Amino acid sequence: MTQGMSRYKVNVVTMGCSKNLVDSERVSRMLGDAGFDVSNDADMSPGERYTVVINTCGFIGDAKEESIEAILEACRAKEDGGVDRVYVMGCLSERYRDDLPAEIPEVDRWFGKFDWAGVADALVADTASSYARRRSREWDRKITTPSHHAYLKIAEGCNRFCAFCAIPLITGRFKSRPIEEILDEVAELVSRGVVEFNVIAQDLSAYGHDIYGRSALAELIERMAQTRGVGRIRLHYAYPADFPYDILPVMAAHDNVCKYLDIALQHIDDTVLGNMRRHITADETRRLLDRIRAEVPGIHIRTTLMVGFPGETDEAFERLIDFVKEQRFERMGAFAYCEEDDTWAARNLTDNISDDVKQQRLDRLMAVQEDIALETNEAKVGKTLRVLIDVEQDDYYVGRTEFDSPEVDPEVLVEKTVNLKPGQFCDVEILRALPFELIGRPV
Ligand code: SF4
Repeated sequence: MTQGMSRYKVNVVTMGCSKNLVDSERVSRMLGDAGFDVSNDADMSPGERYTVVINTCGFIGDAKEESIEAILEACRAKEDGGVDRVYVMGCLSERYRDDLPAEIPEVDRWFGKFDWAGVADALVADTASSYARRRSREWDRKITTPSHHAYLKIAEGCNRFCAFCAIPLITGRFKSRPIEEILDEVAELVSRGVVEFNVIAQDLSAYGHDIYGRSALAELIERMAQTRGVGRIRLHYAYPADFPYDILPVMAAHDNVCKYLDIALQHIDDTVLGNMRRHITADETRRLLDRIRAEVPGIHIRTTLMVGFPGETDEAFERLIDFVKEQRFERMGAFAYCEEDDTWAARNLTDNISDDVKQQRLDRLMAVQEDIALETNEAKVGKTLRVLIDVEQDDYYVGRTEFDSPEVDPEVLVEKTVNLKPGQFCDVEILRALPFELIGRPV
């Protein structure tokens, strides 16, 4: 590439979850290392020539539609001359690799979920440029979240095969990353200014069994917590069955391990749990939650629940409502069952709950949770909490406590009585609570 020549541009667009975002960060790094000028989810200026890489989501109906719409939009932009070529990768193209090329022939190239090198090699070839993909470590990536926090993916795939879920069909079997490799990545990210690590996988609870023959989550988090510069570690996507209880004393012992656990429970009715193939009963679920709360005082539990699963009776749904009122989850998301091709439920069960009933149940569940969420926030008024500043806005700094995961949980609006910077921790007295925000002043 001759001096002064501008580098060829690529815009990597990410759909779906944080695990997909990490994949986008890896492919972005490979493209950048190859010499391309990489943007992420950017509004490219008119007249700019570039290739768009869409990293799709193929999880459930709405997400698939969003990905299809993003692909079609990019293809329209190509017709209008704004985009040179459209590449599609990720879960949707992995899952429907046999059908999509014929259905959307305007797409130039289709890639699997993990074919990051293939994307870089293809663009080098298609741009006939002097660029060359450089060898890089599997986990090298361009951090696209604010530079002081990062998602840390510790494993790929899933072996659970819950009845409603297509993810194992897309990502394949569960595969842990070695502890040493993860710690190398953590050290490297700390050196680049990351202080908060949001630990993710499809199934955190299974970490280590495949490569060490035992649960290794506690060991990994213990060693991360002792790593210099690691300000915060937050755990996401735990699975309730075979839960690694030895992680609880590690969470309780370290100030830099957030008193926060994201654990999807989906339901509490035994018949529904059985049909969902969740490998856990209502009693076992309650005992698990009791033990988590007993061993990690003050923990905030985030869970995900599903309504409208085939065969969910009115009584079963009322049990779910009572469960939410009884457990008072500090954080909760819910969605309605959506039949997914090739899943056990699609092959063996009838989607017999109407969309109206599903929506009514979802609305009732979220209404119960909204009250609990506000009360959870109100209980923090008068307390002093450690806040990580994410951004500076006109009137406030915006940050998060250890109980707030990026993108999904409440934020703290911090009065600008002192100078603060993104990535800085600050003790904040909480003055007011709103449903999805806290307002406070630095102390
Ligand atoms: S644990 Fe169940 S819901 Fe989660 S990814 Fe695996 S199969 Fe899907």
